[in-house]
Amino acid sequence: MALEDLPPLREVIAAHGLSASKALGQNFLFDGQLLARIARVPGSLAGERVYEVGPGPGGLTRALLGAGAEVVAVERDSRCLAPLAALSEAVDGRLRVISGDALEVDEQAEAGAGAHIVANLPYNVGTALLVRWLTLDAWPPWWRSLTLMFQKEVAERIVAKPGSDAYGRLAVLAQWRTTPSIAFAVNRAAFVPPPKVTSAVVHIVPGETPEGVSPKRLGDLTAAAFGQRRKMLRQSLKGLPGALDALAAAGIDPARRAETLSVEEFVTVARLMGTS
Ligand code: SAM
Repeated sequence: MALEDLPPLREVIAAHGLSASKALGQNFLFDGQLLARIARVPGSLAGERVYEVGPGPGGLTRALLGAGAEVVAVERDSRCLAPLAALSEAVDGRLRVISGDALEVDEQAEAGAGAHIVANLPYNVGTALLVRWLTLDAWPPWWRSLTLMFQKEVAERIVAKPGSDAYGRLAVLAQWRTTPSIAFAVNRAAFVPPPKVTSAVVHIVPGETPEGVSPKRLGDLTAAAFGQRRKMLRQSLKGLPGALDALAAAGIDPARRAETLSVEEFVTVARLMGTS
């Protein structure tokens, strides 16, 4: 059976009793045009490798395969394995499914260097996975691009600029060495069942990593600074060894608050804190 001859997704869900599980963050997409639009965000996928988290019944997976990609997908819900196996058969094995938890998979080993990551992420693990992919020690990273669905509010935090309410740790960790952008918003009515809020597809491409900065240092610095975002830096960074000295060496007024510092200023302070 070819990809286009597969039964409609709604039938697949009914046939396999795939009632959406809230605990697994299941909000399925059925609209073929929308799914194809998501699959176009990374650029042409013909002959490219894609790592997908949470294929569920396989809607986005079909779109990725339809665009010519070779897909490695990790899914935690074993009820989805049978329909995904049928999908794999329809594309002569261009889809390989790993049964397991995306937080525990060695995705680089599974997907291989140069893969695009594309996912309609389960919201409960989405931010943790994003932070993991942004804070890798090895850079350029093994992944070529990220195309990820988030709640719109989270998408706005990823692209936020200093001084805005949305600006925080996620913005700094995303922007210090990648270029993130919101590709488009997705109405909640597109999902089954609809989530409470609007979603958005975020596209992230890696850039150069600033020299002499460890992701761990920047992670600790932003966690401390934004952990008490309304406080002055002299207060919020008090407990982080070396941070106040680095702030002084960078010529940054300790009476400022975290949300006023640019991404470059955070990078400078992290660099002055050293990598050891
Ligand atoms: N990709 C499908 C779509 O677009 O219709 C389903 C998206 S749904 C928002 C999230 C999917 O991630 C579900 O299939 C869920 O079972 C799966 N999932 C949830 N937590 C997971 C985890 N830790 N590791 C792998 N998959 C997970």
